[in-house]
Amino acid sequence: MNMKRIVILGAAESGVGAAALAKKEGFDVFVTDMGKIKPHYKEMLDQRNIPWEEGQHTEELILNADEIIKSPGIPETAPMVKKVKAAGIPIISEIEFAGRYTHSKMICITGSNGKTTTTSLIYHIFKKAGYDVGLAGNIGNSLALQVAEEPHEYYVIELSSFQLDNMYDFRANIAVLLNITPDHLDRYDNSMQNYTDAKMRIIQNQTKDDAFVFWNDDPVITRELEKYHIESRMCPFSIIEKEGMIGYIADGEYHIERPTPFNMEQEALSLTGIHNMYNSLAAGITADISGISNDVIRESLSDFQGVEHRLEYVCTVHGVRFVNDSKATNVDACWYALESMTQPTILILGGLDKGNDYNQIKDLVLKKCKALVYLGANNSKLHAFFDQLGLPVRDTASMKDCVTACYELATPGDTVLLSPCCASFDLFKNMEDRGEQFKELARGL
Ligand code: ADP
Repeated sequence: MNMKRIVILGAAESGVGAAALAKKEGFDVFVTDMGKIKPHYKEMLDQRNIPWEEGQHTEELILNADEIIKSPGIPETAPMVKKVKAAGIPIISEIEFAGRYTHSKMICITGSNGKTTTTSLIYHIFKKAGYDVGLAGNIGNSLALQVAEEPHEYYVIELSSFQLDNMYDFRANIAVLLNITPDHLDRYDNSMQNYTDAKMRIIQNQTKDDAFVFWNDDPVITRELEKYHIESRMCPFSIIEKEGMIGYIADGEYHIERPTPFNMEQEALSLTGIHNMYNSLAAGITADISGISNDVIRESLSDFQGVEHRLEYVCTVHGVRFVNDSKATNVDACWYALESMTQPTILILGGLDKGNDYNQIKDLVLKKCKALVYLGANNSKLHAFFDQLGLPVRDTASMKDCVTACYELATPGDTVLLSPCCASFDLFKNMEDRGEQFKELARGL
């Protein structure tokens, strides 16, 4: 017997899904994780008779693989990844693997910011249209598990640059590229070009039967496009009406030009803020290309509830509004949050800084903020940059102290905005934990 061996590095959502699919397709499968595997995932592996290990990587069981499927969370610099590479074993992502076993239509969304919002909105429209659709990638169940056990005709897939890194033959029927701004540069040798190249992989292998939806106002994207020979149907969108745009906003109206002309009042869109106009344009164009009726698109764009921790309205306490944008873990996301503020704002900043350049938000902070509250284990970089702006500032190291400080600084008619520009791991389990603590404490005031 000469069964092909597939080894999976990392046993979380994508790894366990890939293992289930590999097993179903008849491979010799082994799953290995340096950390602890969650009980629920262990159970899934056991039920399918898939051998696994945790807390270690046993070399002899890994370096005999024909192919490795690596979790996007494991960096290229991890010692085992280096050994696998040195041994010349091909490394692919779970999405690449799953793509080999399905002919379903793939709608793939990437960008530095807005992926989850846009992916969820597209899924919402497709569901409402009655399409047989699965949600996959960074959200929902892994693509591989759905392909193996619960196949759909369409998949809406959120792709991070890390997933795209190990994709080669996968082809997106509709590729959506929202924006490219600096993020995760620590994983790309501090090279913006390397990170950009990863994002551009979203269009690789596209043919003339496919479509490419992208934000035409992004200078990085338009510059990159000059380097590529693109066969797919180009569907650029912009915040203003310009020649060649498939989607745009003009005179307070949201427009899609082709294939089926569509328009609605901008006011009727449920998501607010310029960034969400882009997300709504990308989603509407994708739905239009997929043959979804104008009525369904209109209804879906106006009743979409948004996604938790993204500019999420929490409550109003004695005239002070609380808004949770805990997912703003980079400066660009905070820029858009501030831009959308219509009331004097008390901004909560801080956490683990990924090499932030705060110059990008300096003018908006001056324009929109009446005070700043720093929330982090180490706030020195924030002090060094923002204290000189002359706004009242407070220093805090727990969400409780932070919310109390914000409430003290606020007067009726103000907004307290958690849009911290940083990762959460210095004080919180993750960004969800940070957002939940914020909401709970604000509601308890
Ligand atoms: P991602 O999945 O790419 O991280 P999310 O939809 O979760 O994107 O949003 C992340 C953060 O970025 C939120 O703070 C949100 O308000 C902001 N954001 C959402 N869409 C955009 C966009 N198109 N451009 C810039 N920022 C955005």
